[in-house]
Amino acid sequence: MKNPYENAMAQLNKVSTIKNFGNDFIACLREPNREIRISIPVKMDDGSLKIFEGYRVQYNNALGPYKGGIRYHADAEINEMKALAFWMTLKCAVAGIPMGGGKGGVTVEPKNLSKGELERLSRGWVRGLADVLGPYKDVPAPDVNTTSEIMALMTDEFEKITGDKTRATFTGKPAGMGGSEGRGPATGLGGFYVFNALRKTLGLPEKSKVAIQGFGNVGGNAANIFIENGHTVIAVSDSKSAILKEDGLDLKKVEVHKKNTGSLKDFPGAKNITNEELLELPCDLLIPAAFENVITESNAEKIKAKVILELANGPVTPEADEILFKKNIPVVPDILANSGGVTVSYFEWEQNLKKEHWSEKEVFEKLKKIMEEASRKILDKSVKSKTSLRMGAFILALERISEKM
Ligand code: NAD
Repeated sequence: MKNPYENAMAQLNKVSTIKNFGNDFIACLREPNREIRISIPVKMDDGSLKIFEGYRVQYNNALGPYKGGIRYHADAEINEMKALAFWMTLKCAVAGIPMGGGKGGVTVEPKNLSKGELERLSRGWVRGLADVLGPYKDVPAPDVNTTSEIMALMTDEFEKITGDKTRATFTGKPAGMGGSEGRGPATGLGGFYVFNALRKTLGLPEKSKVAIQGFGNVGGNAANIFIENGHTVIAVSDSKSAILKEDGLDLKKVEVHKKNTGSLKDFPGAKNITNEELLELPCDLLIPAAFENVITESNAEKIKAKVILELANGPVTPEADEILFKKNIPVVPDILANSGGVTVSYFEWEQNLKKEHWSEKEVFEKLKKIMEEASRKILDKSVKSKTSLRMGAFILALERISEKM
């Protein structure tokens, strides 16, 4: 299987065959502006010293300061960061927000660290990168395994080092540290607004049957939002287990079960299935909300969902995209479907700089408007160019970035 960056570049090659953006522009987008690796020494609780590898990729800032999450994961590596930073560049352009694309992280299994070790690692990441971060330079946010608490620690460290008191360098902070209302559910909610905007065109019923891979910030929030809006969530999964209940899961009870047992497995009344089986369930909507490369050439033929909504970044490979397109299964692409997160992050940055605090209602209204407009424009591009929604989104994003560059 190709790495996520190779997949991202394959998508860039593909869009170049649909619309001519000029070789020079495409060449500029083939490499990040800047790619930084740092070593982070952390004093462990047992007194030993451990060196962790950290990253920041600053891909493109034509539309505004670099923006993008920080991922803590044992498999985090530079090609994944480059891909995520590239997609973030396009995602901000699709949403029409004045931000560029970046991504960062640390190769670490955070579950193996104590609270104190995690704090020292997070502060170390900021110390290693403080020179290249800032409200008008690069504005990181949470991603897999990083939380609002970690953003608070990072904000505190950045303020200590630079004296910057705007708190606009990190988004996804807790409310008391300048966080925006509504950032928690923003990605799932944005995805729901996109789904709603496209539902009829995609031929999905008013009450859809939904299967969701991943039960973290994005997947968990999405599950709750779909249920609150009258849809049925038939399956959910986490890294260790997956469960299916044809007539719908009671999410509140699932959450309690997971909290008590540490797993989704053996939830009363549901069937234990594998993550692979979840992806291949017959349903109206399949939402991958965990990781990259989960729908590939080896399982795309077996997908039975009517539509895929990519809330994770890069879950469908370019090879799988081709198979799904032929099978007439539309894929609502990540750079549209999960752009609600970065959009509310941008709202947070704006509120911090203006010293404002918007209500949740105001945040959600603004988010809805942006998601609906982006969905309409992308649908229009894909229909006019007789191509997939992903390529429609790429065309819209590249037009906006190339115009600015
Ligand atoms: P998270 O760490 O909160 O949750 C990840 C979930 O995936 C967990 O439930 C975990 O158990 C599950 N998981 C891990 N490995 C798995 C596997 N092999 N199979 C099935 N499930 C697995 O992370 P998150 O913030 O919810 O991010 C999930 C995805 O959404 C990522 O691709 C991320 O880049 C993307 N995303 C997140 C945001 C955001 O606002 N957090 C915004 C845009 C995109």
